[in-house]
Amino acid sequence: MTLAASAIVAQLSSLIGEAAVMGAPEQMGNYLKEPRKRFHTGAAAVALPGSVAQVQAILAWAHEHRVGIIPQGGNTGLVGAQVPLRGDEVIVSLARLDRIRAIDTAAGAMTAEAGVILENAHKAAEAENTIFPLWLASQGSARIGGLLSSNAGGVNVLAYGNARELTMGVEAVLADGRLYQGLNSLKKDNTGYDLRDLLVGAEGTLGIITAATLKLFPKPEDYETCLVNISGPDAALPLFELLRARIGARLNAFEIVPHIGLDMQLRHGMLDRDPTAGPSPWYGLIEVSRMAGGTPGVLQSAIEAGFAQGLLDNAVFAESLADRTRMWAFREQMSEVQSKEGASVKHDVSVPIAAVPALIARGTAAAERLVPGIRAVPFGHMGDGNIHFNFSQPVGAEPKAFMAENDEKLHEAIYEIVLDLSGSVSAEHGIGQLKRELLVQVKDPVAIEMMRAIKTALDPRGILNPGKMLRTDP
Ligand SMILES: Cc1cc2nc3c(=O)[nH]c(=O)nc-3n(C[C@H](O)[C@H](O)[C@H](O)COP(=O)(O)OP(=O)(O)OC[C@H]3O[C@@H](n4cnc5c(N)ncnc54)[C@H](O)[C@@H]3O)c2cc1C
Repeated sequence: MTLAASAIVAQLSSLIGEAAVMGAPEQMGNYLKEPRKRFHTGAAAVALPGSVAQVQAILAWAHEHRVGIIPQGGNTGLVGAQVPLRGDEVIVSLARLDRIRAIDTAAGAMTAEAGVILENAHKAAEAENTIFPLWLASQGSARIGGLLSSNAGGVNVLAYGNARELTMGVEAVLADGRLYQGLNSLKKDNTGYDLRDLLVGAEGTLGIITAATLKLFPKPEDYETCLVNISGPDAALPLFELLRARIGARLNAFEIVPHIGLDMQLRHGMLDRDPTAGPSPWYGLIEVSRMAGGTPGVLQSAIEAGFAQGLLDNAVFAESLADRTRMWAFREQMSEVQSKEGASVKHDVSVPIAAVPALIARGTAAAERLVPGIRAVPFGHMGDGNIHFNFSQPVGAEPKAFMAENDEKLHEAIYEIVLDLSGSVSAEHGIGQLKRELLVQVKDPVAIEMMRAIKTALDPRGILNPGKMLRTDP
């Protein structure tokens, strides 16, 4: 029998205390609104457990009564995975589980609870002269459980990997309330299937992560950062290869931004001054880290070699923290500035790095053919082959009409090119609600069968994030 919302609130309150449960729509507002403003529905309740035992109690109860549960962290996800789909689910926010449990500098490991905000994890690591190198624009709100569950990427994947590669072990509550104790700081552990890798990136569909052991790295002594002027993605590719050959693992970031991005930010007063060396069709933001005792000027000499080979037209190096901050702001404000230019159609996609120039050229041409006057704004993590292939509406277009007419056809055109180039339709943001129909169309059918089998084995009643990632509803 389906429980009424009032019964859900009453029963949850008896499990974890009245003060930790919300049922009134006006109390739940912030947990229901998501950054893309695409997915709006209600929820039966929001629960904020204060301990792992309380998370277990909630899931044992939900399993018994077949109540849908949506784990939520900082609610910064961009595919609608952390907000309700049907409206009768319970959001379980991990925000109160926010302790750093331990830091072991010898093992290079930090054990943090799921609700720790990424920025606080950074501070805790730095206090021990180490870094937790997951950096993204949402780090002031995103929480460890959400970051791991969406296998977040960000700007330093090139050197350190994404969330999965930064996770050594996880602790998670399974659908029926049992606790999986997988925290460890072992570099080597070949004892069967990798359950950590199943839970990381599962978007809350296989269990609720309550804590994780995360990898720490020695803190660099300094960073060298520059913005280069390049003619386009075609020139970015050999420049990237040259830098990687000379700098190796210390090459932290290689991002690209087209001139239209700079134009928009200057027009909207988002930069106090132009951070580049002058106008150019494209810019590359490159950063290298220097460890204690390392030789300064590594980036400078590599860039000079690039000049000698005619791979770039100009460059400017950060000479202060303010310069570096401005350069990164220029890159990180790219999403935000687009919202000031009306509606935009967005794609978070990846292709093999060598195919990035073809992706950008073919995608831009296809969009311009479909929508005259559309403004292509592709930017992002060139070094990972991950481009945020966004399009701003033509100047003066009516935003709603533009989206209604063009959203679907632009998606189809871009995804077709991505798949033709052996790429992925979701590089770092995940599937959630946004791409669940797309996933079954593009993923290997055997992979979908394996994913369904895993889901059924770990969540036989389908209570964890129902309908997200893999459709479970008819
Ligand atoms: C301005 C901005 C910039 C961004 N930049 C990037 C970027 O560069 N790279 C990138 O990868 N992403 C980026 N994102 C997306 C987003 O920040 C990440 O997906 C982040 O990992 C989500 O963390 P969160 O705590 O907000 O999770 P939420 O949004 O709350 O949840 C995300 C997913 O994780 C699940 N979940 C949450 N907590 C748990 C838990 N404890 N156990 C199990 N499942 C859980 C949810 O059910 C949902 O499926 C950006 C978002 C914004 C708004």
